[in-house]
Amino acid sequence: MAQLSITSITKRFGETPVLKGVSLDVANGEFVSLVGPSGCGKSTLLRIIAGLEAPTTGSVTLGGVDVTATRAADRNLSMVFQSYALYPHLSVGENIAVPLRMRELTGLQRLPVVGGLMPGAKARRQRIASQVSRAAEMLEIGALLDRKPGQLSGGQRQRVALGRALVRNPAAFLLDEPLSNLDAKLRVQTRAEIAELHRTLGATFIYVTHDQVEAMTMSDRIAVMMGGEILQCAAPDIIYEDPDDIRVAEFIGSPK
Ligand code: ADP
Ligand code: MG
Repeated sequence: MAQLSITSITKRFGETPVLKGVSLDVANGEFVSLVGPSGCGKSTLLRIIAGLEAPTTGSVTLGGVDVTATRAADRNLSMVFQSYALYPHLSVGENIAVPLRMRELTGLQRLPVVGGLMPGAKARRQRIASQVSRAAEMLEIGALLDRKPGQLSGGQRQRVALGRALVRNPAAFLLDEPLSNLDAKLRVQTRAEIAELHRTLGATFIYVTHDQVEAMTMSDRIAVMMGGEILQCAAPDIIYEDPDDIRVAEFIGSPK
């Protein structure tokens, strides 16, 4: 069984069909890039996979569990947004800790309060601190934990967003053009680091990019999307050498 199953997803915004029946099975630990022209529905599909948006029809399961039927705090996946979506008033460390504190922040975990302190609160704080520093060390931002996002460079903010995704050790990572706000040199460097993270963690990655070189170098498979459909999903060399649709050939062959 595929670890992530996307089945016959359609999505309309009002009268406008944006996704027209997207199906994709992704194996455990696979790295799949989603490429396609602007407006073809990549971000919408990723938000639906993340359970942040409901499909009009169709379903998404991760490890056999329906994503839309799972509470956000319990979903075994993390999403990294193009804009990073960091909380400006929280420090780097607090931003990274957000997914670990989601249950208490959303009141899902109500433990009996004894003498004003939740039982085990101190041990829990320590556990969160050590998970945060482990994620920060992996991304080489361990020295920045007390800073606010406004005091960071674009590349550092990007690492904080990755750290926040990493800290829960999810089964799947969904990344929406995570490098598009970085300059060319930093993009190449961070690309290599994301590939390394994928190897180290062994998690499943769905990686949206409009950069074909990025998709080519990082992916086990590339899904080419156009007009709300996946035209072809195959290994990079097959996509490049044996496109099974003229629109795939034109998109891949076009200078970006
Ligand atoms: P991509 O990420 O491939 O550029 P998107 O998924 O962001 O594409 O958008 C696909 C289409 O859906 C676009 O035409 C966009 O304008 C439209 N769209 C996306 N989100 C909404 C929304 N919340 N309401 C209405 N239209 C939307
Ligand atoms: Mg997008």
